Amino acid sequence: APTALTTDVAIVGAGPTALFAAFECGMLKLGCVLIDALDSVGGQCAALYPEKPIYDIPAHPSIEGGALIDALEAQIAPFDVPRLLGSRVETLTGHRGDFTLTTARGDTVNAKAVIIAAGAGAFGPNRPPLEGLESYESTGAVQYYVKKRADFTGKSIVVAGGGDSALDWALSLSEVASKIYLLHRRDRFRGAPETLSRIEEQVQAGKIEKVVPYQLHALHGADGVLSTVEVTTLEGESRHLEADTLLPFYGLSTDLGPIALWGLDTHRNTVPVTPATLESSTPGIFAIGDVATYPGKLKLILQGFSEAAMAAHAIHGIVHPETALHFEYSTSKGVPG
Ligand code: FAD
Repeated sequence: APTALTTDVAIVGAGPTALFAAFECGMLKLGCVLIDALDSVGGQCAALYPEKPIYDIPAHPSIEGGALIDALEAQIAPFDVPRLLGSRVETLTGHRGDFTLTTARGDTVNAKAVIIAAGAGAFGPNRPPLEGLESYESTGAVQYYVKKRADFTGKSIVVAGGGDSALDWALSLSEVASKIYLLHRRDRFRGAPETLSRIEEQVQAGKIEKVVPYQLHALHGADGVLSTVEVTTLEGESRHLEADTLLPFYGLSTDLGPIALWGLDTHRNTVPVTPATLESSTPGIFAIGDVATYPGKLKLILQGFSEAAMAAHAIHGIVHPETALHFEYSTSKGVPG
């Protein structure tokens, strides 16, 4: 059922930077709610690469995407942050001190300030234009993310795409799949030399077959069960690859979606902010993480964490204009809650 909530800070998104913003809000005794279009928290880390190690999170020499999100959840657990999941924010109206957000599901949130931590926006995979695609997506015969490698054990898989994701997953899945067809519309793959030589090893070993230069043409099967993937060259030569799974890696489409309609200045699917506060062109609306831009911006999780802290400190003055914020270390005040 649709929910109506009143809080200090509405956080749009529940990716890694949003989760850490919830922590910073909690430390400053600001109430908040996390709202995400996806059914679970974790943004790109959880949806796109839960089993891939990240190497540049400070103090973690290596941590998998999913494990990072679990750790962020553990860090905010004391604050019992409410969340609206599977609930895309469609409208944002009002002004500094009094905003109203509504979601596609009919939830409403009233908040004194807003943090947009929407990453790549309403991100989704670029889907190949193939007839009947939806029925194969619904059964998992066509997927765009590898959540659990073990799910692909013994499968015959067409991996499509010429970039790093396609190459990395072809290599990784070749250890569990029965067969990998690596499909690319050009002769050459774009990848690190080390990756390309490991691909060659798997080709020699008969685990990977390169299918180049071909592109996807049609899916054959019934009731969402795939039997062959038809591919063609530019000259119209066709091949039928026996496969039960297709994994297209054609990149992410990034689109601010409804955020572009909220009256904020935007630039190329990002929201320009004042670096010292992360405030957007609209007073009281802040942007952090991948969606935020300023000179020197790095689209890295570690930078999003720092932005979360700065935005929360700036917002304290909106929520509690009468109380000066004393800067305190977490070591001296502990975690309230
Ligand atoms: P996201 O993780 O993109 O989360 C944004 C969330 O907002 C999403 O869940 C989305 O559903 C939600 N949302 C958007 N619009 C709305 C709306 N209108 N209403 C409700 N919800 C909405 N970074 C590193 O620092 N190191 C790495 O090694 C690294 N490796 C990567 C490897 C891969 C394969 C990929 C894809 C990314 C990698 N990144 C890495 C980038 C990193 O994942 C991003 O920088 C990070 O996820 C950004 O976090 P975020 O919270 O800003 O946004």
